[in-house]
Amino acid sequence: MADCIFCKIVSGEIPSQMVYQDDAVVAFKDVNPQAPVHILIIPRQHIPSLMDLDEASAAVVSHIIVVAKNLAQQFGVAESGFRIVSNCGADAGQSVDHIHFHLLGGRSLQWPPG
Ligand code: 5GP
Ligand code: ZN
Repeated sequence: MADCIFCKIVSGEIPSQMVYQDDAVVAFKDVNPQAPVHILIIPRQHIPSLMDLDEASAAVVSHIIVVAKNLAQQFGVAESGFRIVSNCGADAGQSVDHIHFHLLGGRSLQWPPG
């Protein structure tokens, strides 16, 4: 997708602090972290949001969850706790239309979120 900032991060056109990548996904530090650990995990493929998933394309989501779990371990929040969030649509505050999963940890997180 030509105008998508996350596609540009996948291609390397926009620099990022990459922490993990494989054939299907990349993970990088959020530029505006909301917690001591704030990593975004995204599919390489441009999928706008959760609403665009079907059974086949949702397979990458289970892979993303496993990647997030491994990153939680690597970044030292597996024991203390962490959250995985995907904002979908305007009311949830989705600001980038390339599906992404936030991994947040390293502080006490409020529930429900604001
Ligand atoms: P959303 O609000 O859509 O759930 O999350 C988008 C996230 O992407 C935000 O937390 C924002 O800080 C992050 N973000 C936006 N642009 C960039 C960028 O160019 N680089 C990085 N690393 N993160 C970005
Ligand atoms: Zn994209």
